[in-house]
Amino acid sequence: MQSQELKSRYGLFLRQEACLAVRSSPAACSRCAAACPTGVMAVGESGVSLADGCLGCGRCVAACPSGALSARGYLVPDRLPEGNREIAVECWKAPPRLPAAGAYAVPCLGGLTASALLELALAAGEGRVVVLVDRSWCASCLAGGSAQPPVAKQLEFARHALTRLGWPQQSLPEIWREPLPVSLMPEEIPVPAEREAIGRRAFFRFLAGKAADAVIERTAPPPKALPRSIIRQGERLFPEQVRLVAVLERLAARRGVPLPANLFPAVSISETCANHGVCAGVCPTGALSRYEDEAATGIRFESWLCAGCGLCARSCPEGALVLDLAPTGDEIMDGQRELTRLPWGVCTSCHERFAARGKSLCPRCEKSRNLAADLFGTILA
Ligand code: SF4
Ligand code: SF4
Repeated sequence: MQSQELKSRYGLFLRQEACLAVRSSPAACSRCAAACPTGVMAVGESGVSLADGCLGCGRCVAACPSGALSARGYLVPDRLPEGNREIAVECWKAPPRLPAAGAYAVPCLGGLTASALLELALAAGEGRVVVLVDRSWCASCLAGGSAQPPVAKQLEFARHALTRLGWPQQSLPEIWREPLPVSLMPEEIPVPAEREAIGRRAFFRFLAGKAADAVIERTAPPPKALPRSIIRQGERLFPEQVRLVAVLERLAARRGVPLPANLFPAVSISETCANHGVCAGVCPTGALSRYEDEAATGIRFESWLCAGCGLCARSCPEGALVLDLAPTGDEIMDGQRELTRLPWGVCTSCHERFAARGKSLCPRCEKSRNLAADLFGTILA
């Protein structure tokens, strides 16, 4: 399915099949609407809609866990100019004559996804640092609305992931404060046509002036940790997650370390699990699923697919499932993991196969027996 263009003069696109609210329900996700600084984005039963007044900041794009949304202006360049130790990232509001030569400009720093930050760090390499330039305008900017650039969450994740992968501390992406007078700030983020023309001209001027400098090539192979079938499905349904795993995997390979599982949410299920599979039924991404084999049945989990929506934990009638959004274990990412494994047994009453967990009666027969016992007890009382 093609992306659908939403009503924004900045170029904002929605891939319906990847949207968790469309595929499941608004209860599964409405993060784009929550992130929209002007409140013009809404998520309802009919999906995602956009009213007039989009600022083009892309903050909804950065908030979308599946990558269903995309906006113009956030394509990480394939090649980064070499020479500077710092790779500066500016917002489009910064006057084009000001940013350092070779700076990478985006509509709003708050629209950068975690994967984009990691791709920039990878392209910059271990000896350089990606610097998000804070002009101290965010508090006065409609898209920012806070004293700090609204990229804190993505930056925190990128720094955490790079630290876990052993990236040099002095090369972790960071925010640099280089204030400019607010009088220089344009009221609106420039529309892409204007900005891209300026950006291209400035970039080629820069390259011409630095003809002797080498440039870094960046390629984007698909992740190896995920099975091909999942990648094919994932690129359609979870483009952001596939992009994130791909860049994390390349960073891990660069460092010569395995990919840690704790960069993604973790789920655990206690003994009180009744194996009815409600959690797998409500999970909008398929991160949780039921399995059955010759010997047993249970619930399994694929961490990189988890959007951290919490529907599973909220829906479990037994309260058996715990979602951990910031796990600390040392496990290595290894695809699907069995969370429960209940060996098959045969019910001594109806002779049907069931997940026994040491019992001799299946839940249905046990319920009937308890009902009969209650009734008998009532009659005798
Ligand atoms: S954030 Fe993404 S997945 Fe969630 S409702 Fe919005 S478009 Fe859909
Ligand atoms: S595993 Fe739970 S938290 Fe993760 S996407 Fe599925 S329902 Fe949401």
